[in-house]
Amino acid sequence: MANDTSDKLPAPTIGPPVKGENNIASPMPFGLGHDKPHHIIEMAEVMWENRDNLAYAWRILNQGVCDGCSLGPKGLRDDVIDGIHVCTSRLKLLRMNTQPALDPAELADIERLRRMSNKELQDLGRLPYPMVYRPGDKGFSRVSWDAALGLIGDKLRDTAPERQGWFASSKGITNESYYTFTKAARAMGTNNVDLCARLCHAATVAGLKRTIGVGAPTCSLKGMVGTDLLLLIGTNIANNQPVTMKYLVEAKKRGTRVVVINTTLERGLERYWVPSMPVSAVFGTRLMDDFVQVNAGGDIAFMSGMLKHVLALGAEDTEFIAEHTTGFDELKTKLDALSWEELEQISGTSRREMEWVGELFARAQSAVTVYSMGLTQHRFGTENVESVVNLHLSRGMIGRDFCGILPIRGHSGVQGGGECGVSPTTLPGGRKVSEEACAEMSALWGFEVPTMKGLSTVPMVKAAYAGEIDFLYNVGGNLLHTMPDPDRVAEAMGRVGMRIHQDIVVNASMLIDPGEVLILLPAQTRYEQRGGGTSTSTERRIRFSPEIPGHPQVGEARPEWEIPCQIVMTANPDLKDAFGYPDAQDIRNEMGETMPVYKGIETLRKAGDSVQWGGPHLCADGFKNMPEERARFTVLDPPSRLAPEGQWMLTTRRGKQFNSIIIKSKDHLQGGRDRDDLYMNPGDIANLGLSDGARVRVHNDHGEWHARLRSMPIKPGVVQAYWPECNPVIPLEMDPRSEEPDYNAAVHIEAM
Ligand code: SF4
Repeated sequence: MANDTSDKLPAPTIGPPVKGENNIASPMPFGLGHDKPHHIIEMAEVMWENRDNLAYAWRILNQGVCDGCSLGPKGLRDDVIDGIHVCTSRLKLLRMNTQPALDPAELADIERLRRMSNKELQDLGRLPYPMVYRPGDKGFSRVSWDAALGLIGDKLRDTAPERQGWFASSKGITNESYYTFTKAARAMGTNNVDLCARLCHAATVAGLKRTIGVGAPTCSLKGMVGTDLLLLIGTNIANNQPVTMKYLVEAKKRGTRVVVINTTLERGLERYWVPSMPVSAVFGTRLMDDFVQVNAGGDIAFMSGMLKHVLALGAEDTEFIAEHTTGFDELKTKLDALSWEELEQISGTSRREMEWVGELFARAQSAVTVYSMGLTQHRFGTENVESVVNLHLSRGMIGRDFCGILPIRGHSGVQGGGECGVSPTTLPGGRKVSEEACAEMSALWGFEVPTMKGLSTVPMVKAAYAGEIDFLYNVGGNLLHTMPDPDRVAEAMGRVGMRIHQDIVVNASMLIDPGEVLILLPAQTRYEQRGGGTSTSTERRIRFSPEIPGHPQVGEARPEWEIPCQIVMTANPDLKDAFGYPDAQDIRNEMGETMPVYKGIETLRKAGDSVQWGGPHLCADGFKNMPEERARFTVLDPPSRLAPEGQWMLTTRRGKQFNSIIIKSKDHLQGGRDRDDLYMNPGDIANLGLSDGARVRVHNDHGEWHARLRSMPIKPGVVQAYWPECNPVIPLEMDPRSEEPDYNAAVHIEAM
């Protein structure tokens, strides 16, 4: 094996991994006395919530692809390990699919709706009819589809492409819907089209494309189970992708060492009670072997220290580096020049910790790095990703079994949305917008595809704020609650002449007064649409979810993929040939032709059918998309994110929620008590002369937010709060390279 280090390194100082089988979390059964999820109670709640349609709920679970996070199971099974695949997040989202239509009279008073929480709005029921609202109206009025489409078509004909905005979210949305949505935007002449992936993993796509030539996870989820070393950096998969805890229990049995590098010690990663594994369900399983507590934004410094030590040990894979990469010597020179003192100060960790994890990496024969928004949602998110790539290239830990980089996605649709071209800079299949690519796409689609420079989400919102957007089409999504600086976002949305919200339920973004007119368009869920639909999981697996009978038609709701087609055909009847799809299978047939990377999607017809684009490993046969087929090391200056004297670095976290949908106010995994908790280290709380539970005012130049201090094992000098509640103090800024928003800010904290 090229990178076998066993005979090169000094005698190991590191013990064997902790095996999960023998390491129960607590002798007290069912985690009594511990902060942990209450699976049984939550399941009972779900049964009660769905009691009017339990048979349909069961069919969704059994036949559908989960519309929650990005693991993409087939019904109640997956491709990673044996056994049941389900979690309470999925169960809690079920009601969105089973609930009946709302009474349109509920929407007749917009002020009343504005006083409701998002959960209360969602619980009103499914949106059944197109609805229209104009400033000065008391509320929404029902209109026919023809009337709604007519209004939209007229507006689009009068709106220049650069004054349009098209934005899609990812909860439950299928690849087919993304494809028709982005095709429709292009047919209307604009590249101002973007996806909520901009908010979570745009930095991943930018960083991976630049260094290895492909902006997607390089390995499969299976790689986590049995790799020598699993690095979890800037992630809390226990909360956001709960079934991965089952994978970790299995990984521990096979000897995987789990190292967590985070700002907060996440209790769920430390130990977990997996309900479908009997011993774990009763006594829990200890999962984490090593924990390193970094500063918010200190990851590049930490990984640089790790790599510095790998090179000091002579553990780099010289053969792989010579044959497959470029830029190694420059990186080595840079690492030599970085002092340990500097790395310690920026990372907030000790040289010993950097050397420790560096040595683990040097000794491992295989390693997988899983990361999330703790790395990407920074103004240097792309560099964070490049730093992970540096590590893996140094030891040739890519493109082979149990090795790879696994940025994990939070939504069922988000991986596919980008790949299907919901992006201002790429077309379906991932080709960059260019004269040549657009000419080819124009020939395939039968209309002229624009080459204009398009706007991503943050610039689109800023353009709206500047009064430069007249038409904004939202498919799903709740920009008001997901973007930083909600006041500015609300004003921006209010300045747009026509706003369309296509969705299955009502949310707060739909209640902002428009410049001229606001139109709600009712969509079907992914389980109701004729011809079924596909979604792409975080491991690049495109999976078919069939139309599942059993839910009565909700009013006049239409398939998500069909609505943009009807909008385009109304705006320009000459485009009927390009958009008149009889059902979703016709779209898949076209995608198989126009998106070479999705070849095979047209063959998916039965529940659970799947195809994994790129195979189990990307880059297994080299770096074909890179110049001279060589991956690129990146020279990085570790950026410092320390708050100025007297301030704190606020970073965001997720709790019992799915995106901006709050499932429960209490974060059972971590011991958080409410959504206005501000996590602070106990020593820092004492230094402020305050105590746990004290009310505080959190503020900076951008805004103010009121919170309650909670003592948590978090890095001193850093505080953490639930997103999106703390968004008022997060400015609307972004990583300039990927245009991903930066969800961190320096704040003042004062007792109230
Ligand atoms: S872990 Fe994710 S994909 Fe799996 S059931 Fe839960 S929400 Fe769905």
